[in-house]
Amino acid sequence: MTRLHVAIPTSIDETLGLLEKWGHDAAVIAGGTDLVVELKDKLKSPKALIDIGRVPEVRGIREAEGNHVWIGAMSTHAEIASSTVVKEIAPILAKACAQVGSPQIRNRGTIGGNMSTASPAGDTIPALYVLEASVEIIGPRGKRTVPIESFFQGPKKSALAPDEIVLGVKFQKLGKEYVSFFRKLGQRKSLAISIVSVAFVGKCQKPGLFTDVRVALGSVAPTVVRARTVENAIREKQLDPKTAEYISKLAFRDCVPITDVRGSKGYREQMACNLLYEGLLSLLSCCEAC
Ligand SMILES: Cc1cc2nc3c(=O)[nH]c(=O)nc-3n(C[C@H](O)[C@H](O)[C@H](O)COP(=O)(O)OP(=O)(O)OC[C@H]3O[C@@H](n4cnc5c(N)ncnc54)[C@H](O)[C@@H]3O)c2cc1C
Repeated sequence: MTRLHVAIPTSIDETLGLLEKWGHDAAVIAGGTDLVVELKDKLKSPKALIDIGRVPEVRGIREAEGNHVWIGAMSTHAEIASSTVVKEIAPILAKACAQVGSPQIRNRGTIGGNMSTASPAGDTIPALYVLEASVEIIGPRGKRTVPIESFFQGPKKSALAPDEIVLGVKFQKLGKEYVSFFRKLGQRKSLAISIVSVAFVGKCQKPGLFTDVRVALGSVAPTVVRARTVENAIREKQLDPKTAEYISKLAFRDCVPITDVRGSKGYREQMACNLLYEGLLSLLSCCEAC
């Protein structure tokens, strides 16, 4: 039987010391909802688990300097989904967290774990893309901040070095004139990894007219992607249901999906277009009601 050492540091310095000591034999554990599955399936076999649950520097959700919101890596999906600050300032992230897994997974799983797993199907990631978030990382060489799009380098590949951890994520507050939606398609309504997801943020000038349009697609490429073709088509154009339908059909141009057990390439392309259309229609009716 192999022995697994478990360390529970209570500060960042202690965490970094343990990462240095154990090197490639260490794995950081937060909620464990991804990692424990990998340990069970023998996809990873670390000699030491470093549980960061008692490190205060990775906890909390707060308004920060420069009109920013900061979310600690150990914040669970349940905490983010119910946070008054997040619901008011970035409702899209609260909505994305509310759709992760099931209540049990949301109570254990963290935003730091979701980012560090670096899956293109991670539900917080499209929301963080359209919020143009930055990831705060700490390691033996100090602190650094990486724009969210540069953090992800491929499926399960991120900019994180083995001796670093994610401290938190931050983004600028959006004003009241911003509208958003997050749509996810899974095989079921809960406990389902995304087959496709779409996140949208835009500044509503008047019903159907958006500037500062940001659209991100999940599960349709090796990483989450910004849908630049769609963004350019929506920006400063007066949308009605017909133009929204036409523009939504362009979403496949921003996708390079694969076929896997959850869905074929063609299905993913089609559903990216459909989810975007559904979301845009909901915005049009919501703006008209304002
Ligand atoms: C049944 C089930 C359903 C699920 N449904 C969904 C879903 O609908 N949507 C979705 O997006 N995900 C889903 N997941 C995946 C998972 O729950 C999430 O990705 C979750 O956010 C992972 O967070 P965690 O804290 O549990 O990470 P952990 O399992 O603790 O860690 C995951 C990885 O990240 C690393 N890590 C964790 N925190 C840090 C940190 N701060 N710094 C550096 N490295 C770190 C770990 O070393 C590990 O490699 C599901 C998982 C299960 C088992």
